[in-house]
Amino acid sequence: MLPSEVLRDFIADPYFRICLDNCEPGRGRTVVMAQLGPNGTSRCVVLKPRLEHCSSAFARYIIAHELAHAHLHNGGWGEITDREEAADALAACWGFPKIPFEWI
Ligand SMILES: [Zn+2]
Repeated sequence: MLPSEVLRDFIADPYFRICLDNCEPGRGRTVVMAQLGPNGTSRCVVLKPRLEHCSSAFARYIIAHELAHAHLHNGGWGEITDREEAADALAACWGFPKIPFEWI
């Protein structure tokens, strides 16, 4: 479960969305996203349908990692300036530690 202040931040932001990547092999993909925010950035989390074929622990980690990016506005966290490391660290802080990549 994400901290309540994080959930409130997402709910209050009209630029935050969670979308599903609708990928049709051979035809391309369609993603319906919120418009960009005032500074030209997005807080849209796009999830791939293939997550349903992963272990639940891996899927939860990926979703938490992507939500961490959105919460951090794709920036660092504290002293962590690398965006990917920051998202992993924040997701772990929320209770979703990094899980090795699963080939699906
Ligand atoms: Zn990432």
